[in-house]
Amino acid sequence: MDPLIQTKSLKKYFKTPRGPLHAVDGVSIQIPRGKTLGVVGESGCGKSTLGRTLLRLIEPTSGEILYNGEPILNYSRTQMQEMRKKMQIIFQDPYGSLNPRMTVNEIIAEPMKVCRTVPGRQELNDRVLSLMETVGLAQRFVNTYPHELDGGRRQRIGIARALSLDPEFIVCDEPVSALDVSIQAQILNLIMDLQSSMGLTYMFITHNLSVVKHISDEIVVMYLGQCVERAPVDELFEHPAHPYTQALLKAIPVPNLSQRGQLKGIIKGEVSNPINPKPGCRFASRCPYAAAVCTECDPAEKEAAPNHFVACALVK
Ligand code: SF4
Ligand code: MG
Repeated sequence: MDPLIQTKSLKKYFKTPRGPLHAVDGVSIQIPRGKTLGVVGESGCGKSTLGRTLLRLIEPTSGEILYNGEPILNYSRTQMQEMRKKMQIIFQDPYGSLNPRMTVNEIIAEPMKVCRTVPGRQELNDRVLSLMETVGLAQRFVNTYPHELDGGRRQRIGIARALSLDPEFIVCDEPVSALDVSIQAQILNLIMDLQSSMGLTYMFITHNLSVVKHISDEIVVMYLGQCVERAPVDELFEHPAHPYTQALLKAIPVPNLSQRGQLKGIIKGEVSNPINPKPGCRFASRCPYAAAVCTECDPAEKEAAPNHFVACALVK
């Protein structure tokens, strides 16, 4: 199936006083229309930067982004504005990402006003109410402010806003991580229901392995800006091939990858520095199988099984 969105060797380096920080370092992925690509990795591995770069909210340093087969990196501002309607983002923190001085109505209506996609006032109000219904938010909240609502309802506002321009592709950046566990499943189910009713394509970023297993068709495992393994979800969980993925999946209970240092004891060694990294495998400082060949050059991605790609020098 042709991918809706695809990247080729996408890189995003940030300038720092000590040298370039390789936040995203040569990531090639593709997401078929209507499917979910889960992106999993520890805090700071570049997941969010990848999601934002994909939408050109951050400009990449190099590489390619193709949308429906079209390279979008040379699109003009006007072309990109049109494109943005199709590509939206749901943020992790519904508390921080909603303007506290705007009502639910104003927040959901804003993108439609800016892009002038709905002609009149009445149509706009009707559209807001219909979006609220779509995301399961009662109409009585239409004139309330975000702080008057609980986390789940606030995230529903964020989702309604993301849907307001009829997107095809949504980056979901840790959309349930800030929510109470009791509410997480409701929001995940909403996100999955919307996908099947609206044919949406998702990149779903999370540090939570159970969430990613539940929601994804395919998974990418990131380590220090690079994609170390990608495979269909069952294949990845049954036959993890990269030593980093193997270590993550061996750890029970599943570690909380959002907290730095959580993997100490599970994965020995220090995380290497993403600023000006040395050539070779980034995981070598922690890998029990590290050999001389691992530090000579970056391990190339190989297809270990159909659609199962691994970047490890020891995987043939
Ligand atoms: Fe470990 Fe070497 Fe594979 Fe890196 S390339 S994961 S150091 S075995
Ligand atoms: Mg993040």
